[in-house]
Amino acid sequence: MKITGIKTFLMQAGSPPNSKAWAANYDTINSGWRNWLFVKVYTDEGITGVGECSGWPRVIETAVTDLASILVGEDPMHIEKLWQKMQVAIMGHGMTGVVGGGAMTGIDMALWDIKGKALNTPVWNLLGGKLRDSIRIYAHAKTPDMALELKAQGITAVKAGGMADPVEMMEKLRAAVGSDMDLMIDCHGPPWLTTADAIALGRRLEPLDLLFMEDPIPPEQADGYARIRDAVAIPLAAGERAATIWGLRPLIEQGLVDVVQPDTGRAGGITQMKKIAAMAEAHGIMFAPHSGSLGPIAEYAALHLMASIPNALMLERIEIDWPGRNDVITPVPKTVDGHIAVPNTPGLGVDIVESEIAKYPSVRNVGLGGGDYAPGTGGSFVYAQPRFMRSKWLGK
Ligand SMILES: [Mg+2]
Repeated sequence: MKITGIKTFLMQAGSPPNSKAWAANYDTINSGWRNWLFVKVYTDEGITGVGECSGWPRVIETAVTDLASILVGEDPMHIEKLWQKMQVAIMGHGMTGVVGGGAMTGIDMALWDIKGKALNTPVWNLLGGKLRDSIRIYAHAKTPDMALELKAQGITAVKAGGMADPVEMMEKLRAAVGSDMDLMIDCHGPPWLTTADAIALGRRLEPLDLLFMEDPIPPEQADGYARIRDAVAIPLAAGERAATIWGLRPLIEQGLVDVVQPDTGRAGGITQMKKIAAMAEAHGIMFAPHSGSLGPIAEYAALHLMASIPNALMLERIEIDWPGRNDVITPVPKTVDGHIAVPNTPGLGVDIVESEIAKYPSVRNVGLGGGDYAPGTGGSFVYAQPRFMRSKWLGK
């Protein structure tokens, strides 16, 4: 079998008016910043594979087109070889971040899809077989009402972020949902907390028995993570912004986190994610892939991967998402009792609906809204925060 071509499918992926999801600030597809980029790899035997590149999709589309030139004519079954070929080709431009990682991710995912279809078996079977038939998900909630609504739907874990007074809100969430639901907090920036403030916040949250505290400080500050880890009795989680085994290595090898969160759409593909999971396993670290900007094809890849690794904790999901999410792929995954069933059809078991994707042309893809970087706002103090920002985290 030979690769004959690679096509990209870029789209704006909006959120609905009155959405309770993370993207609630963006009430039309044109005002939002989320894009999805899907790729299709074609072969001379008529088998096609589908993949997804998240990270910075409009830029990654160009990277995919560049990489296609070195892949046409290659045998798609030799996935590791082709991954290494792409990595070497990109290296001339510097080490790979999420743009190169995202491009390799979508192509790698499509190659696994092709291999599964060619061998008439699901991708999880190629990865060593299944440890579980369904994957536990967690959703986002930042009010007690949202958390209770999700709990009523069978969701067993929720994460909160972007709150004005996180200690008070996390206390309210714990009081509302009781002790049988997992609660997590995402402190992600920018603006970021300082290490000292993250420790202060963590100590105040300790009585709430959180499953993890995510991105308490910028991901590149390994020494800060070590200080928080040693000072606060809450498991730490991070890793959504990093790509490849080398990008995730410091967090894992230095034992800086208890949960590692690479993004299935930009960390380097199923090939890299499986290795990252194994590195984490060796260090007693659980694996909970990031979602957020992630689209529905990469979510399928995460289901296959998480079915096959022992340290799968749970999968992040925007459970109340833009309704168009369900129109651009087939079939649509269903959440039942807080879990999504692992597909048992050959390959990834999913395809894009090209005619639906064409209805949502990409408009823009940067996340900084009007005024976010104006002098005197939180955006202009990326690290050490002035009192008006710190008070939002630590109380008055
Ligand atoms: Mg996060």
